Amino acid sequence: MNHSQHIALVAHDNMKSALLQWAEFNRGSLSHHHLYATGTTGAMLSLALDLPVARFLSGPHGGDQQIGAKIAEGQLDMLVFFWDPLSAQPHDPDVKALLRMATVWNVPTALNTASADMLISSPLLTNGYSRARPLLARSGSAYAVD
Ligand code: PGA
Repeated sequence: MNHSQHIALVAHDNMKSALLQWAEFNRGSLSHHHLYATGTTGAMLSLALDLPVARFLSGPHGGDQQIGAKIAEGQLDMLVFFWDPLSAQPHDPDVKALLRMATVWNVPTALNTASADMLISSPLLTNGYSRARPLLARSGSAYAVD
């Protein structure tokens, strides 16, 4: 069975070339999925890949928060987030919030080239893997598989 996934991609400025290189190498795999990105990352990706990329606002202007909201709404299945570990970001709280949403919602998240390679090549990505989601009606950290 082949399931296309909804994949969000974000890269901080110093990491954009690494993400582009990764995406170009994995264009064939990415072409089977629905792609989303923050503003500048998305513009670069759609040009380089010649694939449709749904774009949110630029990260520092709310794009990270928009992606976090989509995760909370259950509309995104995977996050590739090349955040910059060596430079301070003006929107650091948003970066943290996005990573937090991805963790709360058990969304597979790749933070660098090696983890992105492993996620995009995983058979679980296309074979109908059901990830556990938090049980909202209860307190505690219980998760359910849908
Ligand atoms: P950008 O945003 O793709 O608009 O550059 C990325 C970010 O800084 O979160």
